[in-house]
Amino acid sequence: PPGGLAGEGLELKDIFIAVKTTRKYHRSRLDLLFQTWISRAKGQTFIFTDWEDRELRLKAGDHMINTNCSAVHTRQALCCKMSVEYDKFLESGQKWFCHVDDDNYVNPRTLLRLLSAFSHSQDVYVGRPSLDHPIEAADHVQSDGSTTVKFWFATGGAGFCISRGLALKMSPWASLGNFISTAERVRLPDDCTIGYIIEGLLEVKLLHSPLFHSHLENLQRLQGESVLQQVTLSYGDPENKHNVVSVGGVFGLQQDPTRQ
Ligand code: UDP
Ligand code: MN
Repeated sequence: PPGGLAGEGLELKDIFIAVKTTRKYHRSRLDLLFQTWISRAKGQTFIFTDWEDRELRLKAGDHMINTNCSAVHTRQALCCKMSVEYDKFLESGQKWFCHVDDDNYVNPRTLLRLLSAFSHSQDVYVGRPSLDHPIEAADHVQSDGSTTVKFWFATGGAGFCISRGLALKMSPWASLGNFISTAERVRLPDDCTIGYIIEGLLEVKLLHSPLFHSHLENLQRLQGESVLQQVTLSYGDPENKHNVVSVGGVFGLQQDPTRQ
């Protein structure tokens, strides 16, 4: 609309949020997400796991998807899950696909605000690069004669989003198991493979956003009110104590055992 935002009128229900998890994190990580941000975005959030858990099924209903992928941290197993996430998104008919890990905190309000700036029918791939330079992968011979391709990718551990328009174009390399063979061919992890398909093959650029945060960062650098503006945050393990945002003492250790 003239003078309006590209995605004006975008609603939370237009966004498909895929949470990747695994059997061993259902209690220790997912429960916490249900108690916090998922409760604000229940209709849009889908849990992709590798185990039929009755307790989780009761809580999530058909929003829990048992991918039947194996419960190991290998390229194949993780790409298997991403492939199911992608297929379910296409099936859903929703406008935006967002992927997060089970150690991510999502702020649905700022996510909606971010995506409202774009149109879902444009080619949009937005997230935080995990490196400060593009990666290079062996590929077919390029127009300039080289046999490698350079591309940026959004780190899966910080979350990223893809518009439906772009997701549809990825289909030859991503749908119905093709994602797994694409990842095998270039021997890359799931999030890198997404970047390879989008930047390397479709020649669409990643929009670098500072609003997504993985646990690779030191989140103490986010001060005060700016915490509220972020789209995702991420927590570390008891060994990674730097990864705590500094919010004032609203909840004590009793109410929030995850604060350190
Ligand atoms: N994960 C998985 N299968 C596994 C191990 C991990 O699907 O065997 C998922 C996990 O639930 C999380 C993501 O992969 O969503 C990243 O795992 P984690 O945070 O443990 O490791 P990281 O790679 O971030 O250090
Ligand atoms: Mn993690």
